[in-house]
Amino acid sequence: ALFADLLLPDESATLALGEAIAAALEGGLVIELEGDLGAGKTTLTRGILRGLGYTGRVKSPTYTLVEPYSISNLYLYHFDLYRFSDPEEWEDAGFREHFNPHSVCLIEWADKAAGLLPTPDWRIMLRPEGEGRRARIDVFSTQGKACATRVSL
Ligand code: ADP
Ligand code: MG
Repeated sequence: ALFADLLLPDESATLALGEAIAAALEGGLVIELEGDLGAGKTTLTRGILRGLGYTGRVKSPTYTLVEPYSISNLYLYHFDLYRFSDPEEWEDAGFREHFNPHSVCLIEWADKAAGLLPTPDWRIMLRPEGEGRRARIDVFSTQGKACATRVSL
């Protein structure tokens, strides 16, 4: 179900959306970030991490496929699966264990690992609109719906 449809006029609006989402996150949530290269998926992740209180650098895990963050009592795994192609690597690298009740998973290019990923709780789609971006958030689960009710946009 559609939860939000927003125009983000500039980068700071994307970061602010991330911070608003951060305040509502809890362990177990899986969020897919969809959109072309440069759509703002990593920027949104940066906003979420900032909202969680993380002050370090947020880099795209383009080659490592996943970047783990441990913030107080929450684990956040930021996946960028653009270069993912070998399903065996999913098990070998232990990616499956990242999906657990204590962690939040943010996934760029989830379609590259179709069939390996659980159904997401949210999908956030980003696309260019004018000078800014259009963000559309869809919710697919009971936990995702509960999380959405805690977000103030
Ligand atoms: P992706 O991870 O989707 O490939 P990035 O977040 O790495 O994209 O890059 C997005 C680019 O777009 C960055 O240069 C960022 O500053 C810019 N950007 C992010 N959000 C907006 C926005 N709402 N309006 C305009 N530019 C934006
Ligand atoms: Mg990215």
